[in-house]
Amino acid sequence: VASIFSRIISGEIPCHKVYEDASVFAFLDVNPLADGHTLVVPKREVEQLYELSPDECAAIGRVLPMLVQRVLNATGAEGCNVLQNNGKAAGQQVPHVHFHIIPRRSGDQLGYRWNAGKRSEQELAAMAAKLRAE
Ligand code: AMP
Repeated sequence: VASIFSRIISGEIPCHKVYEDASVFAFLDVNPLADGHTLVVPKREVEQLYELSPDECAAIGRVLPMLVQRVLNATGAEGCNVLQNNGKAAGQQVPHVHFHIIPRRSGDQLGYRWNAGKRSEQELAAMAAKLRAE
């Protein structure tokens, strides 16, 4: 079955469209964290970022700065979070790749701080070596 976002892109389910081109679609999040909360999605339905081809991902990357600018201009927000969740463990609810653009203002109470850990130089070096070898 098509994802809810594929059904939005095809017009089967209504949305408040912000932008569309050959491979990218953007629309308002129906349950926004702030006014102007926008979702940017590839038209081809894949669940996770690594499943996109370089060209499909580049198509999103080409329009993301412009869409961020539009959201900031239209909302007058002071900043924004661009957030992209992959997998249930990361909080992804809709299994169709999407980038959130979430407008932010100081004092907006949305919060955003994760509990960062500490790692030794050796642990960091070993991990970077492992990643380079992948
Ligand atoms: P995530 O938790 O990263 O998978 O985000 C999914 C987002 O999709 C949530 O912020 C929802 O509010 C949003 N969402 C779900 N259904 C719709 C819909 N029909 N139209 C617009 N946004 C939606």
